This record gives sequence, structure tokens and C-alpha cells, in this order.
Amino acid sequence: MKILMVSSEAVPWAKTGGLADMVSALSISLAKLGHEVKIVIPRYYSVDRDGLKLMPGAMGTPMGGGIEEWSAVYSADMPGTGKKNPVKVYFIDHEIFFGRDGIYGSPAETDFIDNPRRFTFFCRAVFQLCRKIKWYPDILHAHDWPSAVAPVYLKFAERVRGGEFKNTVSVLTIHNLGYQGIYNKENFNYTGLGWDVFYYAGFEDYGMLNMLKAGLYSADKLNTVSPNYAEETKKQAHGFRLDGVLRYRSADYCGILNGIDYSVWNPEKDKLIPYTYSARNIEGKVKAKEALQKEFSLPKDISVPVIGMVTRLTDQKGVGELFGPTYGSAWAICRDMQLQIVLLGSGESWCENEISSLSSRLSNFKAKIGYSEQTSHLIEAGADFFLMPSRYEPCGLNQMYSLVYGTLPIVRRTGGLVDTVENFNEATGTGTGFMFDELNPSSIYNTVGWAVWAWYNRRNDIEKMRLRGMSQDFSWERSARLYVKMYEDTTGKK
Ligand code: ADP
Repeated sequence: MKILMVSSEAVPWAKTGGLADMVSALSISLAKLGHEVKIVIPRYYSVDRDGLKLMPGAMGTPMGGGIEEWSAVYSADMPGTGKKNPVKVYFIDHEIFFGRDGIYGSPAETDFIDNPRRFTFFCRAVFQLCRKIKWYPDILHAHDWPSAVAPVYLKFAERVRGGEFKNTVSVLTIHNLGYQGIYNKENFNYTGLGWDVFYYAGFEDYGMLNMLKAGLYSADKLNTVSPNYAEETKKQAHGFRLDGVLRYRSADYCGILNGIDYSVWNPEKDKLIPYTYSARNIEGKVKAKEALQKEFSLPKDISVPVIGMVTRLTDQKGVGELFGPTYGSAWAICRDMQLQIVLLGSGESWCENEISSLSSRLSNFKAKIGYSEQTSHLIEAGADFFLMPSRYEPCGLNQMYSLVYGTLPIVRRTGGLVDTVENFNEATGTGTGFMFDELNPSSIYNTVGWAVWAWYNRRNDIEKMRLRGMSQDFSWERSARLYVKMYEDTTGKK
């Protein structure tokens, strides 16, 4: 099958979250299964042009109001995909839209004011790219709101004309329903689509323009990144006002769990940790724990449980309930329990400040504010438990990394966390982690307390749980086969 991934992020070039990992890893796995996969992303300012190949000729993309947008196109091969069937990556280079720092925004402007233009242009340019390279996909696979308008163009501007895309079908993956791309509806003029399409395609959202919603109405199939999140998003509590649309589309909507990249996240071969280990030989994990304690200037003591966190510091991740001044439970947890907590993260400034303050006041809580691949690997390897009190979690990668690193997740029972973590059963001594239902400071306090209790009183169970976690299969190959099945269902449907 010919598959075109349309995405605003892809590692190793542009990443703000799990989306970037998923798009590249899924593409690589699909190519390994023999499919022809290409990816298209914008050429952001941060993507170094030196490593890319410039394609000859400028590319024109017709937009609304008679505007022709001109861009250059670069290409590169996805690392790790070999010469036989490489995943080709194309970069749309538009100086005005993408020649600036930041992907969706900057510290000064959290959401660029011209984002609706930047990403509708990108979604339209994708079709011009296919014409330029004379390659027409069977599947156009879009991701999240920035590329959600591509399935709309496919349905309302391309397929209706017959032509090159008459046999192309579209899939839209929701990575995070919390971000929808909602803007002033005047921006619709720029799409070049007729105003009737504003209503047919589902752009209209209480007088505003909602890019994701239009994609959800227009794509041939929809999915999200875990089966449980697919169910949750059809209900009001997790539907971000689009639960009705998802119920309406439920025959075409499913959940496919993300995989993890074992070439990067494998405790046996990990190049970023000082000591490697496996389920058969866990010694290295103890040494990694000492290295982690040293790295975070905590007392070296392997008898104390270490709880790790690597997270964006945003409301979605439950940081209010943990670190909210006077409200959050982190301070009481550290005061009352014999444990150590290490955290790596960046995000909202109130939270960064609170965490830095806790770090200086508490002897058993240490944090690094910032982004570091190396430190995130060390935390996964060296910690005994990994805390994710998420408000919602479409899939979540860190709990899967934790499981394969023998680090027991302590998680809220939500989204993909439900599909990946098994709660500790005290009677049988089985499970792979510790779970709670309600997101509030005392639930977090109690569940961390439960894990710490098990650490000191149920060590055999903890060791068994570790091994059970380490034997789970979260390979991308497994997920990729499910995507192929969905693609086949989609083409079959047409
Ligand atoms: P989300 O995409 O909602 O942030 P996920 O768990 O799906 O959550 O994926 C987050 C990814 O980003 C993981 O690979 C995680 O390790 C990484 N990450 C998040 N914050 C940091 C950080 N400060 N330093 C290093 N890696 C981080």
C-alpha cells in the first residue's frame, strides 16, 4: 500500500510530544512490513537545511482569495529505514509561515495568530507535493488538528473532481482531543473552499472555526491511540465537546495502542544509561539507581524506593493535584514517607517555580527543569516507581517505557494507562503497577503510600511485578499490523 503521513511533527526533526515519535515509528514499521510510506511535515526554522536535499523548482499552492503560496520542498530519508525501502520525508519550506522559532507558538506568543493559515496552507500543499513527485497515495493518514484539514481537502476539493486522488482514502488519528485548532471563522476564507463546505465539512463550532472537528467529519476512518481512550472520548467527561461527533462516527472510530521504539527504549541496549540490564540480570538496575541518586544529589541508598517522573508540566498531567501551592500532595508525600522523588520536566511557569522551591526545601525531592533525553532514560532505568497522575492520557508512552525498564507505574485509571497497566492485586501478588480512580491530592497520596508500603512489606511481589512488566510486548510491529488492518478496511469500504 502507498501511505502518506501528513503531520506537523516527526522525530528526529520536529517534536513537542508523543505525536512526533509515533509518526516516525509507525512509518518505519509499516515500511518494514513492505508498504511504501512517505511523510510530509513543514520545514520549521529549527530544521537544519544542510541535512536535506532541495528539490528543483518552486511549488505553488492555490489558497483562498486568489492567493498562490510559493514554497520550496526539501527531502530526506528517515534514519533507520535502509536503502531497500526507505521512508522518504518531505519538508514544505514556506519562509513566512515556518521561518520562525517554535512549532505552534513561542514564549511570547503561545499560539501563533496565523496558525489557521499556516496549517491550512500545509494541508493544501500536501496535494501539490504529490503532484510534484507524481506519487498518489492509497491512504492519506493525518494526525491531530494541524493536519486535520488534509482529509477535508481530499473529500471536498480533490476526490469530488475525480483526478489523481480519486482512489485515495483518509484516516485521521487523534493524539490529543484537548487541542482542536479553534479560531475565528473569518480564517475560513483563506482555505479556498466554498462557505457551504464550512457547514458540510463540520468546520462550524459555535460560530468559530474548528479544524479538528472538520477532520473528524470528513476523514474516512478515525482512530485514537488506545482502545480505552476511544471509549472515553465518546463520553462527555473526556469528549472536549466533540463526544457527540465521535458517537456519530463511532462505526468508523477505533483505538489502536501506540508502540514504543525498542531501538531507543531497551534496558539491555540503552546507550544513554550507565549500566544496562535485563529481566534475567537485573544487577544493572540497582547500579543505575545509585547513578540516578548521584545525578540528582540525593543520598545514595538502595533500600529507599525512588519514584521518578518525566513530564510536561501542564494541567493534563495532574500537576495541580501534586504541586498546586497549599493544595497539592507532593509536600506531604515527601514529609510522611520514606522515599525519594526525582522529576524531570518543563512547562507552566507557576509549576516550574513551585517544583524548584520544593526541590530546595525538601531533602528527598529533587527536580531538573528542562528537557533531556539522557536524564529521562536514567530516570526510567534508575527509579523503582514512575508516577503519572494524568487527568487524561490518550495513550501515554512513559508508563510503557517504565514497564519495560522494570519500573512500576503509579497511575490514574484513565485512557491508555488502563490498556497498559494492571493494578496490583494484594491477594494474588500480581499486577504491573498501582492505580487510582479519582484525581485529587489524597488519592495520589494514598496510592503512592500503597506502593511504598508494598516496597517495604511485599518485596517478593514487587520483584514479580517488575518481571511481568518487563515481559510485555509494546512493539510497533504489533500496532502497525493493526493500522494495516484499518487501512484495508478503509480502502475496502470505498
Ligand atoms: P505527552 O505526549 O502527552 O507529553 P507521552 O507520555 O505520550 O505524553 O509522551 C511524552 C514523551 O516526551 C515521552 O517520550 C517523554 O519521555 C518525553 N518527555 C516529556 N517531557 C520530557 C522532558 N522534560 N525531558 C525529556 N523527555 C521528555
